[in-house]
Amino acid sequence: MAEIGFIGLGNMGGPMAANLVGAGHRVTGFDPSDTAQARARDHGIAVAQRIAEAVRGVQTVVTMLPAGPQVREVYTGSGGVLDTAPAQCLLVDCSTIDVDSARAVHAAAQDRGYALLDAPVSGGVAGAEAGQLTFMVGGDPDAFDCAKALFDIMGKAAVHAGPAGNGQVAKACNNMILGISMLAISEAFTLAERQGLEPEKLFEISSQASGSCWAMLNHNPVPGVVETAAANRNYEPGFSADMMWKDLKLAQDAAMRAGVSTPMGANAQALYAALVNAGWGGKDYSAIYRLLRGETPES
Ligand code: NAD
Repeated sequence: MAEIGFIGLGNMGGPMAANLVGAGHRVTGFDPSDTAQARARDHGIAVAQRIAEAVRGVQTVVTMLPAGPQVREVYTGSGGVLDTAPAQCLLVDCSTIDVDSARAVHAAAQDRGYALLDAPVSGGVAGAEAGQLTFMVGGDPDAFDCAKALFDIMGKAAVHAGPAGNGQVAKACNNMILGISMLAISEAFTLAERQGLEPEKLFEISSQASGSCWAMLNHNPVPGVVETAAANRNYEPGFSADMMWKDLKLAQDAAMRAGVSTPMGANAQALYAALVNAGWGGKDYSAIYRLLRGETPES
C-alpha cells in the first residue's frame, strides 16, 4: 500500500482517486469544492483542508486540475506542492494544460529536487470511472517506470512520450485529430443524407472502407447509427464541446509557438467556438453535427 496525495477531485480526479483507494492505496485528497469533497469521502478518500495536509508523508502526488494557471498555482504557489511535499516524492500531473506551463512546472520541480511527469489522459469520465484511461506521459523514464503501477490501476494504457511536456504535446495532437475527424464525419453524413443515401448505409460502407476512423465507429454523431454514441442520449457527454474547444485551443497555441501551420486545426477550433457560443458547450462534442446542419439547441 502506498500513501498518495490527490489534488483536484472533480469529474475526472474523483473517480481516478477512488480507483486508487479501490486498489488498496491510502489516498488523501484536496479540492476546494464541497461537492467534490463529499463525493470523495463517499469513496473512501480522506479529505484534507490544505495542500500541505494532503501531501504529508506521501510517496506520490497526483494532480487533476482544470488548466495551466491552476497547475502552476498548486505546484509553485506559496504553500503549494513544491513547498510542502516530502523530499523524493514523485509528482504526476494528469491535467490537460498548455505545453509551456507543463515545462515551466517541470523545471520548477526539478530545481527543488523532485521528479515530475506530465501525464494527461484520454478516455473521459467513463474511462476514469472504469479505470480505462490512456496516459500520455512526458518526463524522466525512471520516473515513468515508478508511476507505471498507478497508471495501470487508473488506466488501460500508459505510453512514455519523451521528455518534459511531451505528454501534453501528444494530448493536443491526439485531440486535434479527433476534433477534425468529427467535422469530416459530420459533413460527410450530412452530404450523404441530403443526396439520398441513408446514414446507416454510409456507415455500413465507410466502416469497411478507407473513410473509417475511430470517431466514426465509436462517437458517430448521427442518432441511431452507433448504439452507444452520445447522439442517442440527446448528445449528453461523453466528452463535452467545451473540453474539445479547450483542447483545440491548446493545440493552436502550441502550433503558433512552434511556427507550424495547422489550417484544419484552426478551422476546427473556430467551429467548436461557434458550437460553444451557440449554447452547446455542455453537450457532447459530436453535437457539432447538429450545428453544421444549421440546427440550433432548441430545434
Ligand atoms: P472538473 O472541473 O470536474 O474538476 C477539476 C477540479 O479541480 C474541481 O473539482 C475544482 O474544484 C478543482 N480545483 C480547481 N482549482 C483547484 C485548486 N487550486 N486546488 C485544488 N483543486 C482545485 O474537471 P475535470 O473534467 O475533472 O477535468 C480535469 C482535467 O482533466 C482538465 O484538465 C481536463 O481538460 C482534463 N480532461 C477532462 C476530460 C473530461 O471528459 N472531463 C477528459 C480528458 C481530460
